[in-house]
Amino acid sequence: MTTLQQVELQCPICETRFRSQTVVSTNSFGGKHTDFHERATGTQPLPYLIHTCNRCGYSGADRDFTEEADVSPTLKERVWNELAPSITSGTLTGSEKYEAAAKIAEWQGMEARHIADLYIRAAWCTVDEGDIEAERYFRRRSVWKFVEALESFDGITRDERPVITYLVGELWRRIGDLTQACKWFGKVPKAVAEHEDPASRQWVIDAARQQRDNPREWFG
Ligand SMILES: [Zn+2]
Repeated sequence: MTTLQQVELQCPICETRFRSQTVVSTNSFGGKHTDFHERATGTQPLPYLIHTCNRCGYSGADRDFTEEADVSPTLKERVWNELAPSITSGTLTGSEKYEAAAKIAEWQGMEARHIADLYIRAAWCTVDEGDIEAERYFRRRSVWKFVEALESFDGITRDERPVITYLVGELWRRIGDLTQACKWFGKVPKAVAEHEDPASRQWVIDAARQQRDNPREWFG
């Protein structure tokens, strides 16, 4: 069960004060999906972890609405020019909020890994929104950013490389590009071998093999 609480936020771009809901607690059930999507009973928490200002479209997590928010004049301009026009009446869906947050993170020059996480969460939201086209679009945005992170020096720690390499394969599999999926599943054993405790990551090799051998099945 997910417990929500109302919070009052102030937008760091346009200074509008507004109410939003945030997640106080949640639980997952039934294990994770093969792309690590965790689900809760009842209300899904993901859409409530990002807030959007309904005046200018600025979006982010709780901390992005505090003094810690990195708001430059350039960012303000881009939010007004590129996000504000798409704000109409009505509430944004979870995936729309994550997409706005991902754009802002890109404009702030955040790490590829962080942007990839926002896009994969957008994709997970579309599962509940029942929008298959959008799901594929966000998975693609996410996988490009995870690859960018893997290919950049220190973009992903050695500890996380096995899991993220597997996840890239799994994202391509779900997008339907089985050539890319197999290529990335095939890189998992090397990433595990380079891990400081390879035995602890053996399960990732097993998962990659299972997904590679059954590319169209086992859509957990
Ligand atoms: Zn605003």
